[in-house]
Amino acid sequence: MSAAFQRGVFLDRDGTIIEEVGYLDRPERVAFFPWTIDAIRALNRAGLGVFLVSNQSGIARGFFTDAVVDEVHQRMADMLAAGGARIDAYYYCPHHPEGSVRELAKVCDCRKPARGLVDRAMAEFGVDPARSFVVGDRWLDVGLARTVGAKGVLVRTGYGDTEERRRPEGLEADAVVDNLIAASSWILGNI
Ligand SMILES: [Mg+2]
Ligand SMILES: [Zn+2]
Repeated sequence: MSAAFQRGVFLDRDGTIIEEVGYLDRPERVAFFPWTIDAIRALNRAGLGVFLVSNQSGIARGFFTDAVVDEVHQRMADMLAAGGARIDAYYYCPHHPEGSVRELAKVCDCRKPARGLVDRAMAEFGVDPARSFVVGDRWLDVGLARTVGAKGVLVRTGYGDTEERRRPEGLEADAVVDNLIAASSWILGNI
C-alpha cells in the first residue's frame, strides 16, 4: 500500500478540475480553472488524499487511447507540481457499453456512478469512503458519493449549472457550490 490516507477527496476531472471541452483528446487542451491549484493544495495540506476519478468513454469509443489520457494526466501533474499541489492518484474508466473498441465495450464496475475507482483508492491507500468526499459537476458524481457512503458535492462549473436545475428524484447533494475552491473550503469545514 502507498502512503495511507484515512480520508480521501475524489475529484471528477472534466468540468470540475479542468474546463469541460468535450472529448479531451490532446494534452494541450488541458485548462485548469484559475482556482484549481489553490483548491487542491489546500486539500493536500489538510492531509487528505486527493484522487482523480473520471469516466473516459472516449477510449471505448475509439476517439483516443489510454496513452493520450496518460499524457493529459502527466500534463496536469506537472502543472500542479509547479504550483505546489498534487493529485495522489489518477483513476479513470475506459469502458462504455456502446463502445466500438471491442474489449472495452461492456458494462463494467468502474464507470461512475459505479464504485470501482473508489475501491481502487481503498485498496491502494486505505481510504475510508465513509470519511471521504466526492466532488463533481454531474449528478452521477453525487450518485457515486451515495453508493460508497461518502459526502457528495456538486459544483456549478462544467455541466453543474445545468445539472443543478435537473436534480434526479431522490438524489440530494450534501452541498451545491460554485466551484472547486468553494468545494474545498466546504470539505475543510466538514472534517
Ligand atoms: Mg465532469
Ligand atoms: Zn469501467
